[in-house]
Parts: sequence; C-alpha cells; structure tokens
Amino acid sequence: MKPLLLSLLIAVTMWADAHIFVYHRFGDSRYPTTNTTLEELGSQFEYFKTNGYKVVPLEKLTSALKEKKEIPNKWIVLTIDDNFKSFYTNALSVFKEYNYPFSVFVYVEATQKRYPDYLTWEQLRDIKNYGSIEFHSYGHKHMTYLSDNELKKDFEKGLALFEKELQIKPKVFTYPYGEYSPRVQKIAKSYGFDSIINQNMGAVSDFSDVYDMDRTALVGKSNLKLYLRYKTLNAKWKEPTIFPKNSTLKSLHVETDEMSKKGSVYVTGYGWQDIELQNGNFSMKLNRKLINKRSRIVISVGDKISTKLLIKDKYGTR
Ligand SMILES: [Zn+2]
Repeated sequence: MKPLLLSLLIAVTMWADAHIFVYHRFGDSRYPTTNTTLEELGSQFEYFKTNGYKVVPLEKLTSALKEKKEIPNKWIVLTIDDNFKSFYTNALSVFKEYNYPFSVFVYVEATQKRYPDYLTWEQLRDIKNYGSIEFHSYGHKHMTYLSDNELKKDFEKGLALFEKELQIKPKVFTYPYGEYSPRVQKIAKSYGFDSIINQNMGAVSDFSDVYDMDRTALVGKSNLKLYLRYKTLNAKWKEPTIFPKNSTLKSLHVETDEMSKKGSVYVTGYGWQDIELQNGNFSMKLNRKLINKRSRIVISVGDKISTKLLIKDKYGTR
C-alpha cells in the first residue's frame, strides 16, 4: 500500500467517533431550556439524513465498543431523558417518520405516581414497540447527596417497578441531572447495566469507557454542527479525579497521546486558557477555588475534547 493511502487510512480510523445526543421535552414552550421545538427536531433529522449520518440503536454502539470494533464516524445515537408526555404526543411520530431508533430513560416515580407531565406505563409499553426503554432512577435525586444505602434503595425500588410494569430489564442507565461521582458510578455499575451514559459534551470513540459514555444535549438553542465536529481526546485523568478538598483545585495532570503542542483548558467559572503540552501531557498548577459544587474541567486539542465532571459527594472521598 502506498504510504500516503496508508496514512490516510490511519487518520480516518483514528478520527472515527460516534455521537450520542439527549433530548428532554419536545414542542413544549413552557420549558425553553429543556425543550426542543418540532421545527428544530425536524431540521436536525433532515441534517442527519442529507449528510450521511446513520442513526443507530444505542445497543449497536455499546456492542461495537464491547467487541472492540471500529466506531464509524457517522453513527448517531438518540436518547430521551425523563419520560415526559411530550415525547409521545409531539415527537414519536417524527422519529417514526424517519425510522430513527431511540432510547427513552425512565424516571420511575413520576410514572408510578402518575405525575401529570409524565408518560403512563401504558404509553411506555406502546413506545417499547418502536424503541428501547431504559433506566433513569426511581426518585430522580441528586445522587451524590444520597448515602450508599439510599442509593441502593433508589435503584432497587426503581428497577423492581420497571421490570414489573414493562416486563424487561433495562440495559442502560443515565444519571439524574447527569450528576455522578466515582462512588455513585461504582454503585450504578453493580446493577449489571451493559452501559452507563453521562451528560458530558463529547463523542464516543473505540477507546471510550462503556460505563462512562459522553453525551451531548440537543435542547434550547443548540449548535448541532459544532457538536458533530467534536471528537474524543484519548485522556488519562491523573488529577483531579474527584471534587477537591476545600474546593481548591490545586493542579491539573492529564496524559494524552497527542503530538500537538497546543491545548486548551476550561474550568467552570474561569473560562478557557491555552496550555503548552509536555509530551502530550496537560500539566499545570491551577490553584483555583471552585465556585460551583458542580464544576467541569474540559481539556481540548483542536476539536478533540475530554471532560472531567467534579461534583461534591456528601458521602465519598474516593
Ligand atoms: Zn432527568
């Protein structure tokens, strides 16, 4: 093979990244920050269709990751968090029209207690004919504020009701509010899900962790074309790994396989700054007080990004 062709092939393989998106409400103008208008939804689906994107079931992406197959660049996975009625009344017909698979993540208590804005079990059983139904907790609590016992109770209560009403075991879990810590993640994993998806903006590459897949929200005013450009930065986070003591972020140390010398670092409340990489490593003193109990550190090289979500965990320091 000619060297040029070979290097092109390597480049294509290295750059292959799928994208997982999350929606919440559809055509529901009461909640603009979690809503996607039907016009927006239609134009996004048309964009996927006319630009060669392939909307695949979540399960297909998870299996490809587990079997260490190559993740094609144009794969898209569509998820819907919170079992709001507006998915059924306003959006399901659009998904059907395009024949796009989807996964709905259920906040069990809301359906069980028949909260007015949420789908009934009957409606969820109907939706099951067109897409997959997955788990989004029983009580939709901020999980880092629950003790191990409270977390286990939430999972067990929610899973039992889910399985009883839908006659299936959910395969995938998403955290309420996208909030988790290593402790919460460990407990979630113990319930045997095939995969767990976060809500950190990014992409999914063949080296992504199947229990920590990045997912980007397509709500409010979203920039689909920009989101589709994002790739996964192959990053090993050495520091920080948890929300720091005294809320002070002392330093940053992340190893990557990047050749580039130029990178950028984002810290919630402080914005972006440029950094010079040392042999692909992001290494710097930060000494920054984190203002939010929920902060993000994002590192990037060009369009490749990696996010560390730091959430104060009331019960865990690991
Ligand atoms: Zn939710």
